[in-house]
Amino acid sequence: MQAFYADQFVLPLPEGHAFPMGKYERLRARVLAECPSIRLGPALPASDGELALVHTPRYVDAVAHGLLSATEQREIGFPWSPRMAERARRSVGATISAARAALIDGEGVAANLAGGTHHAQTDKGSGYCVFNDAAVAARLMQAEWHRGRRRLLRIAVIDLDVHQGNGTAAIFSDDETVFTLSIHGAKNFPFRKQASDLDVELPDGCTDEPYLAALDAALDTLWHRIEPGLVFYVAGADAHEGDRLGRLKLSSAALAERDRRVFDACRTRGIPVAVSMAGGYGRDIDATVDVHLNTLKAALASWQRWAATDSPRRHVA
Ligand SMILES: [Zn+2]
Repeated sequence: MQAFYADQFVLPLPEGHAFPMGKYERLRARVLAECPSIRLGPALPASDGELALVHTPRYVDAVAHGLLSATEQREIGFPWSPRMAERARRSVGATISAARAALIDGEGVAANLAGGTHHAQTDKGSGYCVFNDAAVAARLMQAEWHRGRRRLLRIAVIDLDVHQGNGTAAIFSDDETVFTLSIHGAKNFPFRKQASDLDVELPDGCTDEPYLAALDAALDTLWHRIEPGLVFYVAGADAHEGDRLGRLKLSSAALAERDRRVFDACRTRGIPVAVSMAGGYGRDIDATVDVHLNTLKAALASWQRWAATDSPRRHVA
């Protein structure tokens, strides 16, 4: 299975900054040590044209050339630097490459070791998200699919990060070809939610069983409402009980079960998946890395089954 990374672009953050920049490097080291079947590749930067499929030229230009206002930088949560701009482009590039491997190359599953920047909207970033990787990759895959096959590609975004995917919801609010599902903490950031196609709000302290039941019900609804040809899975480790920001109480085992259910549901329907890691702010950063690694192991297991069974849609391409 292919996975793409951009962790060599470490941001110069002020001392005591809440963002766990180091987790990405640790995750890649764990993948190298424990998952030899995952082929790691560096992410290419998304181009201005690719970003403009979702973001306004003004915003793309402001990020590229350091023209973000102080307010805009505060809302993103990172001070601007050339590295911040480059990392943001590469994070989108990694999701594009994962989607292309999963869908266009017919591999079924591929991963971004970062990404899931779902708070970014067309004209602004927010909550550690500069550009919206899944949204840009979704529009680009629709264009590539249509160019090659003259057929419409329907897409679902399954966002299980503990925070609502408000940026993705807003971007696709009037687009019937992209279905947005977000399962998130009702009381968590963002405090003003956007309407996804399907939102499931969970109370503080939600535990394993009700969470997995809510996931099953939401996936059932999703399959009734759209037949996607591609899924973006925004995995998120921040629903874990050890997370500083999550407010939910999910065990590592339940999160691994969550991942297995998402990948199984997609594979049995022949739907390729591009998965991104998204949030994770563990009191113990290694616990967060464990959850992300489990997501990648579930992705790999699904990819191996795709390769073995020659899933039906592979021939469509
Ligand atoms: Zn989050």
